[in-house]
Amino acid sequence: MPDIDYQIVQLASMGAAMDAALAKRFRVLYLDGHDDVAGALREAPRATVAVTSVRKGLKREMIDALPGLRAVCSWGVGYETLDLAYARQRGIVASNTPEVLDDCVADLAWALLLTAARRTHVGDRYVKTGQWRSIGAFPLSTRVWGRRLGIVGMGRIGRAIAERGRGFGMDIRYHNRRPRTDTSHTFEPSLKALAEWSDFLVLACPGGAQTHHLIDAPILRALGPAGILVNIARGSVVDEAALVQALERGELGGAGLDVLEHEPAVPEPLRSMDQVALMPHVGSATHETRADMSRLVVDNAIAFLETGRLLTPIEDA
Ligand code: NAP
Repeated sequence: MPDIDYQIVQLASMGAAMDAALAKRFRVLYLDGHDDVAGALREAPRATVAVTSVRKGLKREMIDALPGLRAVCSWGVGYETLDLAYARQRGIVASNTPEVLDDCVADLAWALLLTAARRTHVGDRYVKTGQWRSIGAFPLSTRVWGRRLGIVGMGRIGRAIAERGRGFGMDIRYHNRRPRTDTSHTFEPSLKALAEWSDFLVLACPGGAQTHHLIDAPILRALGPAGILVNIARGSVVDEAALVQALERGELGGAGLDVLEHEPAVPEPLRSMDQVALMPHVGSATHETRADMSRLVVDNAIAFLETGRLLTPIEDA
């Protein structure tokens, strides 16, 4: 029997202050950065809570190594890296960090949309590198205000993106597997029809097997040579080879991408395309939102250990 009867295994740091708050209240086996996580988990046979993140995930082998596990508290709203099907079989519940990040991710989607359309990244480089020698020589860009905005995945983040779209006078439609009753925007059951209709197509659906390459060559062709794709969802949602080809052939107008299929690997052609704006998967990455996310993970762990209930359970897990 190990010396300490751990209550929590912590696979991902929640920041120094939150890690300390958790360690002050509970017996925590801290394993972020540990080089033999699988071996170390044997030290915590009675731990009931695992604290992890969408990046660190929770694999079946980890669940098997923790016979006392009852709850997983994960940082991030996506959960495609947690084996929740297996966890459910074992009676383990899970939480994520919804809502606290919606607005920051929506802000970044809009930053990418505006950048790709108005070429602010190109203009910035043009001015800073001394290319601006006469007024009016910079190429014209694409109007955003009053255009057609298509959203794939009208969930929490999708709705925050749509709210901002109203401010830009946009006509807004969306595609989900099912229509929603809590939005007045038009539901489009066909993704291809939505792409054909849209000037800007913004992806805000989950990653994972169900949405793998949802955006393929025919959808990109439907969006068309003046269309702009924005992806703040997951890189796996877009067939990246098809995206590069569509951009190279001029079949797609541009793209704003926070996420890539094999991140952090960046396809070479995307690096040099002025019609493409890239960010390094930072949708929620502001000081304020990251602090809120970490606090919510810790609050979920505390709530489960003290009341047996999670604050923000993943409903379909
Ligand atoms: P959410 O509230 O669960 O919304 C997801 C939406 O996607 C739902 O409306 C869902 O509707 C729709 N959807 C699911 N599967 C679909 C499919 N196969 N085809 C079309 N629509 C589908 O989730 P959220 O909190 O808004 O987060 C959405 C995603 O954003 C996360 O899963 C994560 O991958 C991504 N994200 C990225 C960042 C970043 O840093 N870039 C940060 C946070 C989140 P139906 O169930 O009716 O289909």
